[in-house]
Amino acid sequence: MEIIRDVTAMQSRVTALRQQGRQIGFVPTMGYLHEGHLSLCRAARIENHILAVSIFVNPAQFDRQEDLENYPVDLERDLVKAEAEGTDLVFVPEQKTVYPPGYATFVEVESLSGRWEGAYRPGHFRGVTTVVMKLFHIVKPHRTYFGQKDYQQARIVHQMVKDLDMDVEVIVLPTVRESDGLALSSRNVNLTAEERRQAPMLYRALCGVADRVKSGEQDARALVEEMHRVIQEGTSATIDYVALCDPESLESLEKVEGPAVALLAVRFSKARLIDNLLMNTH
Ligand code: AMP
Repeated sequence: MEIIRDVTAMQSRVTALRQQGRQIGFVPTMGYLHEGHLSLCRAARIENHILAVSIFVNPAQFDRQEDLENYPVDLERDLVKAEAEGTDLVFVPEQKTVYPPGYATFVEVESLSGRWEGAYRPGHFRGVTTVVMKLFHIVKPHRTYFGQKDYQQARIVHQMVKDLDMDVEVIVLPTVRESDGLALSSRNVNLTAEERRQAPMLYRALCGVADRVKSGEQDARALVEEMHRVIQEGTSATIDYVALCDPESLESLEKVEGPAVALLAVRFSKARLIDNLLMNTH
């Protein structure tokens, strides 16, 4: 496994690989790797000649300094895990490598970026799309792998790739969960023991709604109220949003008559968690 910290070194390495006809699969991450990240690595490992992983805690996507400071980091452990998955190239740039003094260019996917996560974390998706665009230019992947865990992020990256005619295939893979249903997240380490005990209630709220939709409930407002109730009664978290949306536009639904996605974000004392569930009425 090669560890590369420099942009031009990475670009010349992947350009050479592409010239040899090698297909590159790319998993962008912010590190503190867990089974969710590793599930993306495994898929990319199987479907490509070369597996490239980036580890970069992107300051541009943090709207609060405190969240950035609390973000867990363990590069040594990440490198061991990446190597165990058969990673060929790990790109680990420094902040000043990605955003040198005078950096001035940002990419923004309009409207989708303003909803839900975007409304609660101003500038978040602008930071995400900018760094993803830069990483694509540095790693030059044929395929790139994202988790459904960050549903809105995956949707926005898809839109950016489509709108800007980028020659990369975006593959979105299912959320990996703990056995009690909690979606794996690097941020889960910031939950207190009591909050960790409560956190599976988020997934339970999502599944409860999916069950009600399956049995014919179409009133989105009643379904959203039910999710609110389950989370409020079962956890000490503050709800940022709970929503039932069109999976493409991410606009709130009034009536659930076709595909829908339930989205939620809550704040525990030191960890803000998000989760979602796609549901189909048919
Ligand atoms: P992050 O390091 O949080 O930026 O995540 C890097 C990638 O891993 C993103 O595409 C995430 O959606 C994905 N990811 C994070 N958690 C999970 C999970 N529990 N299951 C599947 N993918 C995940």
